[in-house]
Amino acid sequence: MRNNRRWTFILGISIWLLGIPFYSLAQSASYSVKIGDITVTALLDGTIPINADQLFAGSEPGKVARLLEKSFLKNPVELSINAYLIQDGEKRILVDAGSGELMGKYGGKLTESLKQAGVQPEEITDILITHVHADHSGGLVVAGKKIFPHAIIHVHQTEVDFWLNAKNKQAADPKHMGADPQTFTNAENVLTPYLRSNQVKTFNEATAVLPHIMAMPYPGHTPGHTVYVLSSKNEKLYFWGDMIHMAAVQLPAPALPDHFDVDVAAQQKNRHTFYNRAAQEKHLIAAAHISFPGIGHLQKSGDGFLWLPVPFSLEGRTE
Ligand SMILES: [Zn+2]
Repeated sequence: MRNNRRWTFILGISIWLLGIPFYSLAQSASYSVKIGDITVTALLDGTIPINADQLFAGSEPGKVARLLEKSFLKNPVELSINAYLIQDGEKRILVDAGSGELMGKYGGKLTESLKQAGVQPEEITDILITHVHADHSGGLVVAGKKIFPHAIIHVHQTEVDFWLNAKNKQAADPKHMGADPQTFTNAENVLTPYLRSNQVKTFNEATAVLPHIMAMPYPGHTPGHTVYVLSSKNEKLYFWGDMIHMAAVQLPAPALPDHFDVDVAAQQKNRHTFYNRAAQEKHLIAAAHISFPGIGHLQKSGDGFLWLPVPFSLEGRTE
């Protein structure tokens, strides 16, 4: 009897231990490419169903449904939450920090994806925050504890000022999908521990935040939203943050209102110009919400654009 129990215990522990690496993530959640000499690894934080009717409310009736049907999609649409790891041989840099606890079961897998790529959260030296929405900054702090204790957080000063302003929070509309009072509370919770220990480094304009990386402010989605551009040899990668949410709708129709934007009207005007430039200049893009790994190019197609993902490569090439 005693022996049986002991074997049941040992068997139970073994299955549990075996289960950790094999069952914690249902799919592979890291994918690497080379940009010049630098390795960039897409890391999946999760996938989340988004109601397209709500996101694009106020669009011409039937338009969103038609665009989804054309892409063989049903509403709600499952969007990836992508973050990226940059390894230049010296530093281990994250672009965005995933959602931590803030997206429930749909997110919070970033640290597991990072471990799948062979890196521990303690080894992260820098984090480039595109903006302070929950799905990009929520993973900085989990259960009140810093997840990246040694990292410097790079973020636009305007972004910090906007989200940590008590008057803005008081005036916030609970129905605004991109700026409700809870979003302000989340921002306080994730930024404060790093601010207290002087781990936040801000910038005010286009700046080289690290030797190979430029911060390019693109306000609209949030007041301090920033695109980061990594350069190595003659190659570049543009980390887009939330310049796009739902590719199947926004690429064919960039001018629809997007209610995740803090300034809906401004972004409605900006998106087409921004996409057009990326297509003309053949930018290689890493987009936070295009299907994992979210790395590819835009191509002009009529009045809209097409997404051409980089070909899958076991070697991690981009061309
Ligand atoms: Zn986002």
